[in-house]
Amino acid sequence: MFVLLRHLRRVRGEAGLSRPDHPRSVALRHVDAGSCNACEHELTATAAPQYDLQRFGLDIVASPRHADVLLVTGAITRRMEPALFAAYDAMPEPRRVAALGDCALGCGVLADPDELAQPLDQLLRVDIRIPGCPPTPAEIAAAILAATPG
Ligand code: SF4
Repeated sequence: MFVLLRHLRRVRGEAGLSRPDHPRSVALRHVDAGSCNACEHELTATAAPQYDLQRFGLDIVASPRHADVLLVTGAITRRMEPALFAAYDAMPEPRRVAALGDCALGCGVLADPDELAQPLDQLLRVDIRIPGCPPTPAEIAAAILAATPG
């Protein structure tokens, strides 16, 4: 057990995430609007012990009613567009939108254009941009932490 904890401490140190000066809690509501799931794998890794975003006050929540940030992955498909707006409409103000990955940023490689709605930033105001295909857990964590007000 002691060896495991020592290993975990070393891995966390290598991740190099610094604690914000004025930490606060931020609830993230994730919506997969049409991704290949690689962005989700990297997002899941941010909750693993190496990154453990909960120690910075960041948490992925089940209900948009409890969320501060709408975290969107994937190209926005027509079928997911209503669900995306439903989640956004259910969020309390002030609410922010984060685009995770190149597809959500409108420059991805996926999908038949006929099946796509508008790029996310033409549907909603995007406050946090996390480029990459997919972005690494460290990049995801750093972008969200950088955008977290103190
Ligand atoms: S940005 Fe890349 S990894 Fe993420 S959903 Fe699109 S194709 Fe998949």
